[in-house]
Amino acid sequence: MQIIYKIDLVFIGIYSLIILLTGVFLAITAENPIIMAPAGAGEILYLYFALKRPYKRYKALKKPFPEEWKQILKENSPFYGNIDTAGTKRFEQDVRIFLTDYPVEGIRRQELDTRTKLLVASGLATMLHGRPYWEPPIKDGVLVYPGRVFNKDYKIGRGNFAGMARTNSPLIISRESLEESFKNPGDGNNVIFHEVAHYFDMEDGRAEGIPSYRLLSGTLNPWKRAISKEWKKALRGRSFLRPYAGTNEAELFAVAAEFFFENPGVMKRKNPELYNLLKEFFNIDTAGVIGG
Ligand SMILES: [Zn+2]
Repeated sequence: MQIIYKIDLVFIGIYSLIILLTGVFLAITAENPIIMAPAGAGEILYLYFALKRPYKRYKALKKPFPEEWKQILKENSPFYGNIDTAGTKRFEQDVRIFLTDYPVEGIRRQELDTRTKLLVASGLATMLHGRPYWEPPIKDGVLVYPGRVFNKDYKIGRGNFAGMARTNSPLIISRESLEESFKNPGDGNNVIFHEVAHYFDMEDGRAEGIPSYRLLSGTLNPWKRAISKEWKKALRGRSFLRPYAGTNEAELFAVAAEFFFENPGVMKRKNPELYNLLKEFFNIDTAGVIGG
């Protein structure tokens, strides 16, 4: 995540110039320099809205990263604990930007404790660490439910959903499942990695177990092959991934993403083809970072 992206800067520059030149053109045509005044006001208004978000991020990053936050991250994220100094700084910046710009709230907009927010943010910072120029795929933030599970009617304490990823709605996570995810790093189970992986899959409007084509550098064929092969194994109970991966290809991809960030060493040995595709997509060699 960045304070501002180069491409946005280019567009801001172009639009500012268009507003300015329009003012000059109208003033010359009407032979009335006063016309420049509304154009100037328009320019200021445009720049205010265009730079509001980057400025908010810039201001947030000026604050020192609290020691208490570092401690929570160290205790809960093996990834954070294993990256180098430059990586640590960038991870902390991503955590700060995410918590500044994306709402992470309880039900009825209830304020959450710092630890819960940090666990959510650390999941996102881990998944985006290899992609400093990507934004989180969750546009509407994160809603944290109390308890461990909920059902399809969003009834808390019933059913078996630990999280839910739907397009154009906030990512829903159950707080106790979130806690369990970080209590047992390395077991290949992490609700944040799982649900965010669904968002990467659904970005192109389809949940077929392949990340959005827009974000892929190569062709879809190796993905189709690798996902389908492991899914068939999961269906027969022969996959190294947990049985839930056999539900469909979309779940296979989400469970594989969990494993890639939690237990990459095992994944690299069991299915190097799938490991390499995920490594290329997230642009990070997780086995090199946390081993396993
Ligand atoms: Zn799922």
